[in-house]
Amino acid sequence: MWPVFIPFGGCSGRCIYCAQDLQTGTGTQDLATILHGLRQNLEHSLPRKQSAPEIGFYGGTFTRLPHVWQRRFLALALEYKQRGLLTKIRCSTRPDAVDPEQIRDLRKLGLDLVELGIQSLDDRVLQASRRGYSSDKARRACKTVREQGLELGIQMMPGLPGQSPSDWQGEIREVCRLRPDSVRIYPCLVLEGTPLSGLWKRGFYLPWDTNRTIRAVSRATLRLWRKEIPVIRMGLPPEGTLLPSILAGPWHYALGNMVRSRILFYILFCYAMQGGKRPIRGLDCPRRYQGELWGHRGVNRRRLGKIDLSPQNVRYTEQSRFTLYFET
Ligand code: SF4
Repeated sequence: MWPVFIPFGGCSGRCIYCAQDLQTGTGTQDLATILHGLRQNLEHSLPRKQSAPEIGFYGGTFTRLPHVWQRRFLALALEYKQRGLLTKIRCSTRPDAVDPEQIRDLRKLGLDLVELGIQSLDDRVLQASRRGYSSDKARRACKTVREQGLELGIQMMPGLPGQSPSDWQGEIREVCRLRPDSVRIYPCLVLEGTPLSGLWKRGFYLPWDTNRTIRAVSRATLRLWRKEIPVIRMGLPPEGTLLPSILAGPWHYALGNMVRSRILFYILFCYAMQGGKRPIRGLDCPRRYQGELWGHRGVNRRRLGKIDLSPQNVRYTEQSRFTLYFET
């Protein structure tokens, strides 16, 4: 993925948790500067890449940029796509900035996928987070993107004001029914200078802690995977000045690893239980999942010990599947 950040581009206000200028590390720049820099970067770096990436326009409300700028950014991306140096073109936007005719035009200009920053499908949570649209609007936006022949991405934000982990699982069940092509999960953080930081300082908002977030995101991710919906990002990347700007909330550099290792343990545990009372003799583990198997700082070791697995009876293979061996 080649991300192009247009912080607050097209946004009519600032959402209570959002600090795109800090998150993206690019500060606020005018559109001409971003386009010029992008052209130079693409020309310099793309021909050297071994495989063509996708390009994504993020950090704002792409579909509310002045039309001429939407066209300029897409024309540049399309030029490289037609040269075979980019595969797909994505943009992110808000659910209330999705108009069928406009989406159809953008598809004709080369756009492949729209990521909707839905964040929540619960009206109470959307209202408490002052998102400015209803859950119905978000559902309709998903339908519009699909009906106009584009792929659909959904961004969700667990831990928003007024949201409990069980509320969020209900929302994820609904995301599964919306059948997006990909999902990103960004747990809610309290960032310096945002309205949410004011609420947090006055005691009106308490973010989820890391453990609660990992449990909730693990359950959600497993639910999405079971429907074959890829989760392509968990947590904000530590770009720019993000880290010093976090006042509170469940940011962890290994969040994705911790979620995947928790899910992996759960799956192995379920298979171990299917073996009845037979003890486990060993496990073949694809080498690329070694990190997830034992978990961040070996957190899974104790858990795996409960099903008789230890570094002594795990073998790493180049295969893509796990094999669990039981004593006969
Ligand atoms: S959350 Fe999205 S719509 Fe809201 S201010 Fe940030 S970039 Fe703009």
